Amino acid sequence: MNLTADLLLTNAIILTLDEKLNLYDPGALAVKGDSIVALGPENEIKAKVTARETLDCKGKALMPGLINAHTHVPMTLLRGLADDLRLDVWLLGYMMPVEREFVSPEFVRLGTKIACAELIRSGVTTFNDMYYFEEDVAKATVEAGLRAVCGQTVLKFPAPDADSYDESLARAREFIQTWKNHALIIPAVAPHAPYTCTEEILHACAELAVEFDVPLHIHLAETALEVENSRKEHGIPVIPYIREHKIFDAKVIAAHCVHVDNGEMRTMKRYNAGIAHNPSSNLKLSSGIAPVIKMLEMGLNVGIGTDGPSSNNDLDMFEEIRLASFLAKGTSGDPTVVSAPLALTMGTRLGAHALHLNQLTGSLEVGKRADLILVDLSQLHSSPHFRHDRNSTYAQLVFAAKSTDVSDVMVNGSWVMQNHQLLTLDEEALLAEAAEYARKIDTFLIKREKSVLSKLVAIGGAVQEESFEVQAKIRLTEPAPVQAAIENGDLEILYARHYREYDTYFRFDDPEQGYLRHREDESIAPDGSVSNARYRLTLIGPVREREYPSDVILSRSRFIAPASHSLRFYREYFKPDQEILIEKDRLRWRIIFHDTTFYVNLDTVKKPELGHFLEVKSRTWSRLDAEHKSALVAELITHLSGKVDETVLEDYVRIVEKDVT
Ligand SMILES: [Zn+2]
Repeated sequence: MNLTADLLLTNAIILTLDEKLNLYDPGALAVKGDSIVALGPENEIKAKVTARETLDCKGKALMPGLINAHTHVPMTLLRGLADDLRLDVWLLGYMMPVEREFVSPEFVRLGTKIACAELIRSGVTTFNDMYYFEEDVAKATVEAGLRAVCGQTVLKFPAPDADSYDESLARAREFIQTWKNHALIIPAVAPHAPYTCTEEILHACAELAVEFDVPLHIHLAETALEVENSRKEHGIPVIPYIREHKIFDAKVIAAHCVHVDNGEMRTMKRYNAGIAHNPSSNLKLSSGIAPVIKMLEMGLNVGIGTDGPSSNNDLDMFEEIRLASFLAKGTSGDPTVVSAPLALTMGTRLGAHALHLNQLTGSLEVGKRADLILVDLSQLHSSPHFRHDRNSTYAQLVFAAKSTDVSDVMVNGSWVMQNHQLLTLDEEALLAEAAEYARKIDTFLIKREKSVLSKLVAIGGAVQEESFEVQAKIRLTEPAPVQAAIENGDLEILYARHYREYDTYFRFDDPEQGYLRHREDESIAPDGSVSNARYRLTLIGPVREREYPSDVILSRSRFIAPASHSLRFYREYFKPDQEILIEKDRLRWRIIFHDTTFYVNLDTVKKPELGHFLEVKSRTWSRLDAEHKSALVAELITHLSGKVDETVLEDYVRIVEKDVT
């Protein structure tokens, strides 16, 4: 029987990475159109195939293209922007604010093309992406000639391509409708992570993926903190939580899964969820090490991914595959686990399974798409070549070969690189454009990092609200007489409260930055129990002492917001030059004096032990108002002092915030 083909690759060491790990040396493989039509021992294939063109692959391994199971390709433009940071500071403090400012369809297309060049050079033929403007990722990928699962991000925050989640969901739907059935692109929906989505978003994304039968790409159980928060907020860990919200109705591709237990792994197995193991990213961000050996034993489809180029920081799958093997060996104390053939299978066929693309790609088999690479094994670092053990070629590829040994890459039957020359992309032009973006982002960040206020605004949810406060503070020798004067006097009291406050002041060497105060407020019930805790963040502008009577001070609060991140997050993000802790017990009254509302606080500052203070203050919206109120504040103090023994009231002192200057 004679078979016609467009191309016959001969004289290669063929690693099929199929179920049986068939290996042909020398082997031949025939391509027709976009598919593999024959492969096997060279003499057999040569005897039955007539090809228009033949290529001698002497000294090279011919294997399926690698599958990068999780990445964010446009982030090549953000590579090296912020490193050595914790995941939340890195993501919420740097990546997301810069993305909101710069990410556009143009940005995404450029970043994708640069990534495609790097991916092709390291032997990747398919990648699984998650980003914004995913239709532009798709367009650029098609131009580069690669295959990709493109996941349109949906999350609860405003994103560069959508002001609301409804908008991003509509965008995802349109993207999927437009790109479904494309030869190279598999559109997908990508709810970013359980903690960046709402339950409603998770449900909607699952429904969308099911409706169009496309994959659903999500970050899961990446950090211990995520799991801890899930337990706190929902009473269950991440995997049961997303199961409750129907995510497993869809074809799931789960990135990371670092912190999952055996039960959760069984759940993922039951629902045929694919897993993307990202060893470099998990190590770099100290997220931990995924229980990959256990996952593989359970029969889960574990692929390997680089994650985005700003958490890795490259897209080199050779490095990633080697690391996956070494990490499993090193952490288990067993050098036989995640062997070279298994590691390479994870980087190819298992990756395709994880992406739900195993019908199309991931191994060299007749009927599958011609997604293949040639790797030069004649280099110094991969020599010599032993043949007594079949596994030695896998070991050469996994433990010794480098991505730069990839000489030729074919996707869907078309060459995208031959003899190390990229055929679809102009690297030089791309790099010049990337340098221009880097310059703009640098300018933006240099400016932002100079100002505490702009850093605060950048982390989102920030409503900049400028208000002034007229404030007087008086040291007391003892608080009881003053309390009696307030409670039993002639003031109109609107309400009384009791708090315990834990304040952390971030101080900066530049006094113009003001102070940033993180406050934890505990409401104390009459029986002494804590009834409620609140966290707030306030940027207090530089204190202004103008010609107000006595030491009445005008301070300026420029921004106030609920503190939704941990104190540790703010510390690492703002990098204060000094930190001051103040703990106080506060009795607070809201009163009316001369038709004006005031707060009167009676504080016992416990840490540091500063004693007792009377504080009278009122918010104002204008300078004129401030002048009027400062006069009233002075009058109110005189009014109160008339009711207590003079020795109780010491001199006006500066506000506690000022005590620390
Ligand atoms: Zn990721």
